[in-house]
Order: sequence, then structure tokens, then C-alpha cells
Amino acid sequence: MEHIVILGNGISGVTLARHIRKLSDKKITIISAETEFFFSRTALMYVYMGHMKFEHTQPYENNFWSKNRIELKKGYVSKVDSKNKSLIFSDGEVFPYDKLILAVGSKPNKFGWPGQDLDGVMGMYHKQDLEKLEEYAPNNKVCKRAVIVGGGLIGIELAEMLHSRHIPVTFLVREASFWNGVLPKGESTMINNEILSNGIDLRLSTNLKEIKADENGKVQSVILEETGEEIFCDVVGLTAGVSPNIDFLKDSEISAEPGRSIELGRGIKVNRNLETNIKDVYAIGDCAEQNEAIDQRRPIEAVWYTGRMMGETLAQTICGNRTEYKPGHWFNSAKFFDIEYQTYGWVWSQTKENEARFYWEYKGGKKCIHINYDKNTREFIGINTFGIRMRHEFFDKALTEKRNIEYVLEHLADANFDPEFYKLHEKEIVEKFNSENNTTIQLKKKSWSRIFNLQA
Ligand SMILES: Cc1cc2nc3c(=O)[nH]c(=O)nc-3n(C[C@H](O)[C@H](O)[C@H](O)COP(=O)(O)OP(=O)(O)OC[C@H]3O[C@@H](n4cnc5c(N)ncnc54)[C@H](O)[C@@H]3O)c2cc1C
Repeated sequence: MEHIVILGNGISGVTLARHIRKLSDKKITIISAETEFFFSRTALMYVYMGHMKFEHTQPYENNFWSKNRIELKKGYVSKVDSKNKSLIFSDGEVFPYDKLILAVGSKPNKFGWPGQDLDGVMGMYHKQDLEKLEEYAPNNKVCKRAVIVGGGLIGIELAEMLHSRHIPVTFLVREASFWNGVLPKGESTMINNEILSNGIDLRLSTNLKEIKADENGKVQSVILEETGEEIFCDVVGLTAGVSPNIDFLKDSEISAEPGRSIELGRGIKVNRNLETNIKDVYAIGDCAEQNEAIDQRRPIEAVWYTGRMMGETLAQTICGNRTEYKPGHWFNSAKFFDIEYQTYGWVWSQTKENEARFYWEYKGGKKCIHINYDKNTREFIGINTFGIRMRHEFFDKALTEKRNIEYVLEHLADANFDPEFYKLHEKEIVEKFNSENNTTIQLKKKSWSRIFNLQA
């Protein structure tokens, strides 16, 4: 029986395993060094914040895997010998495979800062990071201040986590405004204000120079690059982005025949079918790097749902129905303290030449929408919504059907999830658009049949 070996028990690896089992009787093994059972990485913050226990982040009962004849193996793989179709574990065990899927995820970036490996310095990615955080920042008596380095989605989550235990936080952000490589100015400024209003010591345009140790080798302070200021702290969180977790494959290349090693770029290079350059070796999830651009998407997408989609897609190929990965329209969501964020389609931080933008912000702050459309054809390109929930299905359909800005505004009531928002803001939004653009768009009433696609 063909043996499918999946390295990595994150969302991409376990989705693949589940779908292979639905489609076939193949022997399946999932390997991970991190935890015995799959858990939801996106929920780690809620464990620290006391909203759930770690066990609650595990969506499947522990006996699910044996019931589905999916073998689990815990251990660290230090090399892949693709010539002999086997994995080599750190303890020397050689483990053969017929087909290998690399689903090894990401690791937090470290940029060679002095002191980056001291005790009390951690990323926020693995379960072990959470355990370290519990050890070094259980409360504000043990941890008098934490410094977070890097202003992205994980950085702001970590700030919220520490804040929930009343630990003072200094947040170092290299950019002049929070996440401004992704967010346009209005949204980025709104989030700066949200961070500050939660009492976080936000330092924009600020880089870390070095982390200093006390006499026991534990973090004692950080030094800032620009001013030389020393900030005393007990914990440093490194959240300056993530990158594919592929260092162990760089070593593996040495053992492979020349020209026959797994091709690596920033991640593991794959074609549209998620196949690497080596026969019977595939890559999915955060670690996969698309050789060929898919629309305007990034070659590496470190998000949950794309990992799940890749797992589902590759299961088809592994089970004999060779299938291309087609991620559909881009969407994403996150939370910045109390402000929920959703994005559908593209709203780049900078407006492109062919684009026109419409921005509305609630006068009390904390809510805004930003719509991007083609200024010539008026085709809808994308929307950012903050503090307001909008329906994914609505915008996905509008993008597929290439609807124009007028259609999207007329049907805002169908898009919105939130009755309060409907009452309060839709009219105001459409009026603002009309007055800025000299149009006469009329809001249509909410239509459940349109929402649930009941009409012809
Ligand atoms: C704190 C946090 C919050 C997030 N929030 C969101 C969110 O709100 N929305 C969203 O879309 N995404 C979010 N993400 C990103 C999302 O969690 C990831 O995109 C997703 O989990 C990646 O899944 P994966 O299957 O590719 O890999 P991973 O989940 O990283 O799993 C890979 C596994 O492989 C193991 N492994 C790697 N190499 C080896 C080896 N050599 N030997 C043995 N085992 C190995 C790793 O230890 C790990 O367990 C968040 C991430 C973090 C860290």
C-alpha cells in the first residue's frame, strides 16, 4: 500500500490527510515536532487571555486519528533524502516514504539582533512560544514591561495578550504608521489610535538595535537604534514577520545528487499543482512558494484558509485526480484590539494608476470602509471594512461577476451582517459617495433571496 508521509501537523497537513482518507485507503503518517495533536494556531492568543484552555484549540478528539487510520509520529526531521525516498530524524531514525508532502509552516523572523536568543526573548508562533510567555510573563509582578518588535498582525495580537494581563507594553514599529505596507493611510492611522487608546507605548519609525542581558543571561533591556534609548523589560516578543520554515532542507541539499535537490527560494518552490521539482515531493501551506504568479497574489501566503485549500486540492492529486490550486479571490480577516478587520479583493496601501478610491470613516472613529474600483470601467476591485462585519459571499460574487461600484453601494444592505450598521451608517455612506462623485446612487432594501442566491 502506498505510504503518504506528511511533514507538519498544521492546518494544511491535517486537511490533506483528512481528504486523502475520504478519497482512498492509502497509508498516511503525519509527523510533527511541535505537538502530538493538531491545534488551531490562530487561537493561541485566547489561551493566554484565559478565554479557552489549550485542549479547546484541538478541533478533533484525540482518537479521531486512529479511528481514521492516520498515524501520528512526534519527532524532528533533520534531513530529507529524496534520492532514497526517506526522512532522517534528529535521533538518526530513517523513515521511508512513497510520497512526501512538506507542510512545515513558518518560523518567526530574526534579523541577527544582538541578544535575540536570550532567555525571555520569544516569537509568537509555536505552542512552545506560548509556554515561554506563560513562564516569563505570567503577570505584571513577574513581567514589569514587555517590548514587542515588529508591527504586523502577530505583533498587535501579542500586545493585546500582554495588555489583557495588565503588563505594560512598548511596541516598536519600524514603519511610520502601523502595517502601512498593507493598510492605506486612513486605516493605518485608525489602528495607531486604537493601539494608543489601549495604553500601549507605541513607537513608530523605531528599530531595535540590541537586546541586553542581566548577569543570568536573561533579557534586561532593549536599546533603540534611532535614539540609543534603553528600555528596561522582562520579555521581548519578536514579531517582525514570519518566513518559511525550511532551514533543515538547506542541509538536506548536501546529501542529494547535484541538480536533484528540492528547489528552494524563500519557500519550497511549487508549480500550480503544488508539486516540487522532485518527483513525489509536494509542498503546501505557509512553506509553499508558487513558481508562477496566481493573479496578483503573493507567491507565499501565510494564512490559514489558503493552507486548508492547498490541503484539499493536493488530496485530489495524490489520489489520482491531478488538480491545480485555484485560491479564488483574495480575502482575509483579523482583529486589532476591539476593531474587526475584513478585506475582500484588493485595496492596496497605495492607489494604483487605474484605481479610484472611496473612504468613509465613522465620526466616532473605530469604523470605516474603503472601496477600490477602476476609475475607467468602474469595476469593483476590493473593500476594506473595519469595525463592521460584511458578508464574504456578497463580495466574492461581486468580484466574480465583475460588478461596478454603483452595484456594490446600491446593495450594501445585502453585504452587511450587522443590523446596527444598517440602521446607522449605510445611508450616510451612500450619501457621501454621491456628494463626492456627483452620482445619484439609491440604496436598495436588504434582499434575503439575493443574499442566499435564490433568484435566477
Ligand atoms: C499567533 C498567530 C495568529 C494567527 N492568526 C491568523 C488569523 O487570524 N488568520 C489567518 O488566516 N492566519 C493566521 N495565522 C497564520 C496561520 O496560523 C498559518 O498560516 C497556518 O497555521 C499555517 O499552517 P501550516 O499548515 O502551513 O503550518 P504550521 O501550522 O506552521 O504547521 C507546521 C508544523 O510542522 C512542524 N515542523 C516544521 N518543520 C518540521 C521538521 N523538520 N520536523 C518536524 N516537524 C516540523 C512545525 O513544528 C509545525 O507544527 C496566525 C499565526 C499565528 C502564529
